[in-house]
Amino acid sequence: ESVTVIVVTPTYKRYTRVPDMIRMANTLAHVKNLYWIVIEDGNKTSPAVKDILDGTGLQYTYMAYPTAKGFPEKGWYQRTMALRFIRSNTEQILGPSKNGVVYFGDDDNSYDIRLFTDYIRNVKKLGIWAVGYCGGSPVEAPNVTDGKVPSFNVQWSPKRVFAVDMAGFAVNLKVVLNSDAEFGTFCKRGTGAPETCLLEDMGLDRTDIEPFGWKGKEGQRKIYAWHTKTQPPYIKGKLETFGYQVEI
Ligand code: UDP
Ligand code: MN
Repeated sequence: ESVTVIVVTPTYKRYTRVPDMIRMANTLAHVKNLYWIVIEDGNKTSPAVKDILDGTGLQYTYMAYPTAKGFPEKGWYQRTMALRFIRSNTEQILGPSKNGVVYFGDDDNSYDIRLFTDYIRNVKKLGIWAVGYCGGSPVEAPNVTDGKVPSFNVQWSPKRVFAVDMAGFAVNLKVVLNSDAEFGTFCKRGTGAPETCLLEDMGLDRTDIEPFGWKGKEGQRKIYAWHTKTQPPYIKGKLETFGYQVEI
């Protein structure tokens, strides 16, 4: 049975986002049966981003929604609009696929192709894996005992029901469609981070977690997602001055 990997990426105008999006596009272009939903945090989409998306040959939707009043300027509202898009355009997204898995991939992280092919595509309910350079820790990861995840090995806010970064989980489309959970304007249970609120609001608990990339004490642990942050360039002037019409 074919499964569509649905990747949701909020993005906004900043110096590094065009090169960041090129990097992410070059990764995703290798993944078969992938649908990329890119949401511009702004009034209009960027021609430079559209050009990158067209270059991938991937199926995608690129839409613009400026952050609504009351939402933090961190892509929360854009991810919510993507969830609504998924729920009201499910058939168009899936095409001949029978099922899908939804992943929230930010524009500036670094992804191993195998994150999509080996982990995300195999998520039956809620998949969780390690994220490198995250939350003040070299790696944030689920603690795994007998295939279950009773707790999380994270430094920041470890008591959250789901102490996981946006890059560290994916949910099966059925879970998304069986709930109306969205990212709200705040998440108290997440001590500011939105992940645990979304997953709890989807009716999930820790017993639903399928850990990936964890082979136990003797096996090799893998990091396929890295919470990188691209440094803004130290430059003066504008690309346009040099004859390059790149709308960053
Ligand atoms: N983002 C956005 N609007 C903003 C700030 C961030 O759409 O005003 C997006 C950004 O492009 C990225 C995600 O939200 O895909 C997370 O933002 P960022 O990478 O700046 O946060 P951090 O890496 O510090 O969590
Ligand atoms: Mn980031």
